[in-house]
Parts: sequence; C-alpha cells; structure tokens
Amino acid sequence: MANLDIKKLRDETPGCANVTHLNNAGAGLMPQPVLEATKGMLDLEANIGGYEAAAEWGDKLEHTYDAIANLINADHREEIAIIENATRAFDMAFYSLPFEPGDKILTSVTEYASNVISYLHVCQKTGAELVVVPNDQHGQMSVDALETMLDDKVKLISLSHIPTNGGLVQPVAEIGRIAREAGVLYMVDACQSVGQVPVDVQEIGCDFLAATSRKYLRGPRGTGFLYVNKEVIPALDPVMLDLHAATWVAPDRYEIRNDARRFENWETNFAGKVGLGVACDYAMDIGIEAGSERLRELAATLRSEIESIPGGKTHDLGLVKGGIVTFTVDGLDPDDIVAAWAKEKINANTSSVRSTRFDMEQRGIEKMVRASVHYYNTEEEIEKAMGIVKNLM
Ligand SMILES: *Cc1c(COP(=O)(O)O)cnc(C)c1O
Repeated sequence: MANLDIKKLRDETPGCANVTHLNNAGAGLMPQPVLEATKGMLDLEANIGGYEAAAEWGDKLEHTYDAIANLINADHREEIAIIENATRAFDMAFYSLPFEPGDKILTSVTEYASNVISYLHVCQKTGAELVVVPNDQHGQMSVDALETMLDDKVKLISLSHIPTNGGLVQPVAEIGRIAREAGVLYMVDACQSVGQVPVDVQEIGCDFLAATSRKYLRGPRGTGFLYVNKEVIPALDPVMLDLHAATWVAPDRYEIRNDARRFENWETNFAGKVGLGVACDYAMDIGIEAGSERLRELAATLRSEIESIPGGKTHDLGLVKGGIVTFTVDGLDPDDIVAAWAKEKINANTSSVRSTRFDMEQRGIEKMVRASVHYYNTEEEIEKAMGIVKNLM
C-alpha cells in the first residue's frame, strides 16, 4: 500500500464518521480544510458584505488559479478559467470552435452523454460530422485506428480521460502525440481524472481540458475549471461575453480579455472558488501519485472480491484501471444492491446506458452498480459492502 496516513486522512474527512462512501465518482467527501475555507468565505460575506469579502480574500481567490495550474502542470495561470462545472467549462471551449459542413469531430466509445449531446447539437447546426474511434483489444481508444482516421477534415479530437462508467483510463498522452503531429485541436474531459490519477497538460499535450471540483478532487459543488493552451486562446471566440469576459471601451466597441477568463462570467460562487483552490492544494500535499496508487489498489481488491462471488462480473475495461468499479451480479438488480447498501449507509450509484450510450449499447449492458473508491476508503469498508452483496444472493 502507498505510504499514506489513512487514519489522519479519515479523521480530517468529517463524512468518514457517518458513511461508507463509495460514490466518489458522484461527489467525493470534502476534507476539513476545504470545508473550512468554503465556509470561511461564506461567513465573511455574511459578516462584512459580499464585495468586501471578495476584496479581503482577493489573494485566496486569485490563488485558486495558481493552485489549478499547479495541479495540472499548466505553464500559466492565464490558461485557467473557473466555471461552475465541468460540462459548462467543456461547452465554453467547444462551442467557441468554428465548424463547417464536412468537418469531423473524433471521439471515444466511452464518451459522456453531455459531451455527445453537445457534439450532436453542433453537428446538426453546422453540418459537421461526429465520428467514434473504435476501441482496441483492451477496450481503450485504438491509437492505431485513430491514426488511420485522421485526414484534413478532422478538426477536433475530444474524449473523456476516465469515463463516468468504469475503471478505464484512456491513453490520453499517446492520443495527444497523434493530435499534435496532425495539427488537430485536442480536448480532454478530465472530470473523473483530476484528483484520481496524475493529470499533466504538458504530457497530455491537449489544447483544452475541463474538470469539476466535487468528484475525486474533493472540492465544493458548483465549481469547475477549464484549461486552454495559451497559444490557442487568441483565436477562440466565446459564444457569450459579458463585462468580465470583455470590457466596453467605447459606445460601439468592446475589447475581449486575452486570457482564459474570457470564458468566465462575472457573478460566480466565490466561496466555492476559494474551496476549489484549497482542494487542489490538499490533493498536491497528499501527493497525487500516492493517493492514486492507494485508490487503485483498493479498487483492485474490490474487483477481485466481486469476481470471486458466483455470477459477479466487473465491467471495467482498459490496460490501466482506476478507482471506478462497475459491476453486475447475475440475478440481482443493480438498483437493489445500491438500495441494500444505502440501508447500511454505504453510498454508491448505478451507471446506466443513458450516460455512456455508445459503450453500453455496444456491450449490451443496461445498468451496472458503480462503486467508486477513494484513497480514504478502507479494506474493511470493502469487506462490509461485499458482505451485504453476498447476503442478497
Ligand atoms: C461527471 C462527469 C461530467 C460532468 O461534470 P459536471 O461537473 O457535472 O458538469 C463530465 N464528464 C465525465 C466523464 C463525468 O463523469
């Protein structure tokens, strides 16, 4: 096991005293420092006024940009925009791209519903075409197929680093190399990967990366962020502008900001923004590698436990598997497993075809249990959860 002080990590996570939390892909449990920072900002707003609080904690609010840049190894804080969630962050970048009839967007089999809906929406409006790159024999995006599918009509490669429905970790750096060689824009949805596995935008080589605060990063809800490579920012025309994204400089003229904050808007969740910065720092303090190693070991234990029971099947694909464990047990309804767990204060969720339709239709799976572990979970918690499943059989 990775060298982490699990007792300390659990002691500073208030939720660990109340629940067995296997729903980290839904929302991770906030640690005490994140909670305190977020509440601290709310208290300050209540006590001295919202604008005055923003001025007083201006440094903390600005620090969040540095903390995010540090977390994902971005060159410049100017490459970071803070947006209310991963979906809107993703959309702000995606909808700013110009597409023409015949242009192609390449994506993965495991793409997330909201992203696919935006691709289809834009394709319907512009005449661009969405093309799904097939999997290789391990169930991850086939890098060989991707190479053969590239032509001068391909304008964007866009995929989720880790899908919402399983342990698969896509080979995003290899895909990035191909995108760069081909000179194609490259977008990564890192919603499930930030805080779960190392995410390094230099290594990935992406132009855009979107993520949320509340999942493996353990930040407050209602915050997320977008990274945009500084080289591409000037060419991007956001679909919406306001007085924060641009400045009204003459009666008939505005000037757009030259950093990634052209994708933000003025009013936002300031308390969440402070908390997000602390969540990034907290993840870095623990060590992304160490946390990742621990949670992957726990997930591997859970997978082998599931496979050891009659009719137990895990459905996680890929060469490298992360902390999201999806499974079914023959003869048991996934909803009944989640409900039986809920009675014992074990939090988990199901993952259905509606979230990842290309993948689940291809595999003929309607619904699975999704148990997503974090580094603060324990083997005892896994034992307890599996005992309940066995009792249902
Ligand atoms: C949860 C999730 C999203 C959406 O994130 P929000 O913050 O809810 O907008 C996007 N992509 C993947 C892969 C997800 O799991």
